[in-house]
Amino acid sequence: MLKNNLGFPRIGNQRQLKRACEKYWSGKISESELLETGKTIRLTNWQLQKEHGIDLIPSNDFSFYDQVLDHSLMFGTIPERFKDLNKTDLYFAMARGYQSENQNIKACEMTKWFDTNYHYIVPEFQAFQTFHLNDTKVIDEFIEAQNAGILTKPVLIGPITYLLLGKVKNADFNALSLIDRLLPVYLELLNKLHKAGAEYVQIDEPFLGLDLNFFQKETYRTVYHKIKNELPDLKIILSTYFEGIEDNALAALNLPVDTLHIDLKRAPDQLDNILSKIGPHLKLSLGIIDGRNIWKTDYQNAIQFVQKAVNQLGEERVMIAPSCSLIHVPVDLENETTIDPEIKDWLAFATQKLIELNEIATILAEPNSPLLARNTVSITKRSTSTRIHKPEVKKRSLEISDKELKRNAIFAERKNLQKSHLKLPDFPTTTIGSFPQTKEIRTLRANLKKGIITAENYEAEIKRHTAEVIKWQEELGLDVLVHGEFERNDMVEYFGELLEGFVFSANGWVQSYGSRCVKPPIIFGDIERLKAMTVAWSSYAQSLSAKPMKGMLTGPQTILQWSFVRDDQPRHETLIQLAFAVRDEVADLEKAGLKIIQIDEAALREGLPLKKADQDAYWNHAIKAFKIASAVAQPETQIHTHMCYSQFKGIMDKLADMDADVITIETCRSQMELLESFQDFQYPNEIGPGVYDIHSPTIPSVLEIEQSLEKALKVIPEGNLWVNPDCGLKTRAWPETEASLKNMVQAAQNLRLRN
Ligand code: GLN
Ligand code: ZN
Repeated sequence: MLKNNLGFPRIGNQRQLKRACEKYWSGKISESELLETGKTIRLTNWQLQKEHGIDLIPSNDFSFYDQVLDHSLMFGTIPERFKDLNKTDLYFAMARGYQSENQNIKACEMTKWFDTNYHYIVPEFQAFQTFHLNDTKVIDEFIEAQNAGILTKPVLIGPITYLLLGKVKNADFNALSLIDRLLPVYLELLNKLHKAGAEYVQIDEPFLGLDLNFFQKETYRTVYHKIKNELPDLKIILSTYFEGIEDNALAALNLPVDTLHIDLKRAPDQLDNILSKIGPHLKLSLGIIDGRNIWKTDYQNAIQFVQKAVNQLGEERVMIAPSCSLIHVPVDLENETTIDPEIKDWLAFATQKLIELNEIATILAEPNSPLLARNTVSITKRSTSTRIHKPEVKKRSLEISDKELKRNAIFAERKNLQKSHLKLPDFPTTTIGSFPQTKEIRTLRANLKKGIITAENYEAEIKRHTAEVIKWQEELGLDVLVHGEFERNDMVEYFGELLEGFVFSANGWVQSYGSRCVKPPIIFGDIERLKAMTVAWSSYAQSLSAKPMKGMLTGPQTILQWSFVRDDQPRHETLIQLAFAVRDEVADLEKAGLKIIQIDEAALREGLPLKKADQDAYWNHAIKAFKIASAVAQPETQIHTHMCYSQFKGIMDKLADMDADVITIETCRSQMELLESFQDFQYPNEIGPGVYDIHSPTIPSVLEIEQSLEKALKVIPEGNLWVNPDCGLKTRAWPETEASLKNMVQAAQNLRLRN
């Protein structure tokens, strides 16, 4: 039985790619040194997969920044504004923008890859868009592996998925209508790969698992028939993941491809349906190992799927595989030396998942292999561990009362109470929470970790920074202050470290975008807050100022979304446990005298299921969790929430259901979308649409900010409008932060004089 791998992490086991890219960008290494790093990572990955017995080893899964961007370069989807740049400059310019003495070229848009925290560079299609084979990366890498003695399976994003991932700019047409222009380029590429010796090619079409209309399904049919006609002998593995293909099963199963890959972790139920409809030739690649999570595979369970398929199709028509590319999990568990050994035994990172694939194949061939018993021991230990289950926690989340879900007063009443309680001017100004995490602060934390400074030293230093930034905000004239979040490494990790039920890896990095990697905490057990997490910092901060200070918390959905979540209970049960932990913190902050508490839900939209049919259930849980977290606050306490995205069309009503007193959102890059959203639905509570983009060092002028505010006033009632940047200022430097906020405060003052 063939062992198929869809993709392997390309950041390197010590984030070598990140380091090399960042050094290249700052001019510290040459282009050829950068390329050499890429080459080493590719060879290492291929070799590793070969050693672990993988039969279908992917190539072209490597990328210096993003695989979608690679495809855009390959097809010549290059927006006009970049046309004068040379090759490597062009590549990174599209990803990150380009500044020189006389040029300032805006980067392409970046957005989340389906429901993951990986971000891709959005292809831009223009009127009269054409495509041509602009570079041969996929062929070059295939040959590179061949020269190293490894026959790989090149991976391509499918033409339909590629078009659906893109955006039409400055024109009005359906991106999919470009298919007739794009397909010839795919055919040319596939021909070249075939000639170079490729036996299999993996074509990723995750959109096959999503809601498709008739035209889209029809396009799938015609495209894959054309590919088959042109290349009858090339074996195509059509890969779906992140959702089941049930809704499109007939369309998918009738495509003339060699193999269909299905995700049996996300959608285990689809197998029966597929087996009942499958024709006489199609092979299946069964995604039985979780490519999105870090838990050890339950072999017994995985094998049942395989046997079911084999019974019907025979061994020759079945492959086994991870559910999706392994880029969503860290590289190697062997690098972890600090995770508690009991828990480490329950985990598998990308390298371990290769081993699992190999072991499952062995067990299928030799059912008496001791490998199965060994796996069963770990699985049983995890399911019976007393460290996971806490009856008190479970009980509380099963018995939620109406009272726990509702504030004591409706918004209109709360608004009045808060008005007299907080005494804020019209158009109050505030920031989202964090201030620049300078090198000095990061060094403090590193030194604490290394034992170079004591906890007391560290705390004293952080206090000093906090006090300074509070005084500084008062001088600037901000109305609602924040403590700056200097004590936090990360908005999720910080809370995870203070809660029961989490463990942390030391090197469990996963690519988020380009050179940026994240290290998600691991939720292994029931969540419990044994003691207050932020009260000491927030009440210290409040004691330094007569102005209201915002207590600053990360919301339950965001903690869940940015962690590896346990898979032994439904996600929403873990969510509710997190919500209660936040609720207790809100209550304690209020008791400590904080009059405003912000619960950040930066990742609320990111968690939205890909299929419409699942979305209502998601909102129900997410809103319930937010209410559990926030409704404990007294009417005069003002609850804020913050969200990091700008697409609100169709979800304004959900945000309203959350019933936060104030919501701050990221809108400055698309004021228009805000206007559109408000046409569908008038948001009833107070709102702060970010008035400037913190993702760039550019300083907004007073006039620009005023204009944004005037625009916002067209759709937001005067008494409901707040003035704030669009996100936290953690990644910015001080000079631009100071200049920008000064202008922001001035703009609010000008507005007050006029209105
Ligand atoms: N309070 C957090 C901060 O300011 C919010 C960050 C975020 O929304 N991503 O950093
Ligand atoms: Zn944000």
